[in-house]
Amino acid sequence: MIVLQTIQDILNWRNEQHKSSLGFVPTMGALHQGHLSLVDQSLAENEATIVSIFVNPTQFNDVNDFNNYPHTIEKDLALLEELSISAVFIPSVSEMYPEMEKESFYASILTETLEAKMRPGHFDGVITIIRKLFDLVQPTKVYLGEKDFQQLSIISAWVKKENRSEVIVPCPTLREPHGLAMSSRNVRLSETGRKKASLIYQILKATKEQKHHNSPAELEVWARSEFALYPEFQLEYFEIIDAHSFAPLADWADSDQALAVTAVFLEGVRLIDNLRL
Ligand code: AMP
Repeated sequence: MIVLQTIQDILNWRNEQHKSSLGFVPTMGALHQGHLSLVDQSLAENEATIVSIFVNPTQFNDVNDFNNYPHTIEKDLALLEELSISAVFIPSVSEMYPEMEKESFYASILTETLEAKMRPGHFDGVITIIRKLFDLVQPTKVYLGEKDFQQLSIISAWVKKENRSEVIVPCPTLREPHGLAMSSRNVRLSETGRKKASLIYQILKATKEQKHHNSPAELEVWARSEFALYPEFQLEYFEIIDAHSFAPLADWADSDQALAVTAVFLEGVRLIDNLRL
């Protein structure tokens, strides 16, 4: 595994690659099994795989979240070393942002609702770094987690809108044994917090189980009232949407893919999750 740190490094490396397919897994590090499952899928489907680790400052709308974001680079490199990936790209902020510019991307309700509403400018930062990374890496396929469903949908919409050639591969969410979606931010939870956080998945699953007896609106009300029973959780949103348009769902018949999406604070850590219903 070769470690690339500068723009020149990656440009040189990319010029030397004559493989028919290059899989790319962009990450912000503090790697866990969820990230590694994306890497495994890329390894299975491509001749070469590259992972990037870069905590992108322009996508953080909250400076505390950025300052507290976990950095475990030595451990990350050791984990990646065990897999047979070709390269890891770990640039510095000044390398990626000689100027701290941010582009904007609009895709109707997708870039207006839920995470976009709660985290103003977040997805503009995501698209800014994704364009830079895609242009440098020039991957055939890019592996993104359904855990960040809105991010996945927005990047897919951007690739389509810009007629880019990258194939976006959605990958399923990996969970802890008790159901909490794996996330780099989970290390900021206490031991008890991690256990309590399984409530999020329990409520998502219970919503799915009640689908046939209730309307989407009734289930939203039910789920929000469940969270309200546990004051240690501060619910930001719980909504049932159409997974394609992200429009709120009034009737199950209006969508062939309903999705429950939620964001909740526990111990000051913002956790997001979703489940297809
Ligand atoms: P991050 O480092 O959080 O920016 O995530 C890098 C990639 O890993 C994104 O495409 C995420 O959606 C994906 N990812 C994060 N957590 C999980 C998980 N629990 N299961 C599957 N993919 C994940």
